[in-house]
Amino acid sequence: MTAHAFPPPPVVDLPIQGRAERFPVRRIFCVGRNYEAHAKEMGHEVDREAPFYFTKSRDTVQESGATQPYPPGTQNYHYEMEFVVALGAPAFQIAPEDALATVFGYACGLDMTRRDLQQKGKDKGRPWDLGKDVDNSAVMAEVVPVAACGHPTTGRIFLEVDGTVKQDADLSDLIWSVPELIADLSKFYRLQPGDLIFTGTPAGVGPVGPGANLHGGIDGLGTIDLKIAG
Ligand code: MN
Repeated sequence: MTAHAFPPPPVVDLPIQGRAERFPVRRIFCVGRNYEAHAKEMGHEVDREAPFYFTKSRDTVQESGATQPYPPGTQNYHYEMEFVVALGAPAFQIAPEDALATVFGYACGLDMTRRDLQQKGKDKGRPWDLGKDVDNSAVMAEVVPVAACGHPTTGRIFLEVDGTVKQDADLSDLIWSVPELIADLSKFYRLQPGDLIFTGTPAGVGPVGPGANLHGGIDGLGTIDLKIAG
């Protein structure tokens, strides 16, 4: 048995709806600007040149229902409600027609963001890591297997903060579809089971402060909850 100088990091995993086994998380990919109305609110023209990506560390995963501390280093911590793809098979240079076969399931996610630090990175042409790869910022609800939910292409996606609806859109508003995203990402990465793809957020992003209660959902995938410690 291999001896380690200190205990290795724990496996990060998520509950699977209707199953005793859990979903082990590998890498976390996130898509930028995948809803037209959100791209516009962030001051960008929408194009279909190519999707673009950023990543979060596996250690940023936080399960739905948790209370998390307000993160350090920001005055503008934002929610982004997202439809998340959970892969269950490898994909490398895969065609869109073959991509859905690699999906294990789908889930509700929150891509929590230090917006001020992300904006600083954009302004200076620097990486987004301080804004996006934030402790506890990949909030995930249970993974719903394809057998239970199929491959959703329509359905309401929403987020409420303290009972007020802030984001309200439909999965049919996605600029890049799930098979298109998997195919495109697989041009650059050898995707593996356990990889998560956050597919982007609809319009209506905004800040949350200490004490805020976030509640979101996607038709057929259940709900997600998060509290910011007061
Ligand atoms: Mn996002």
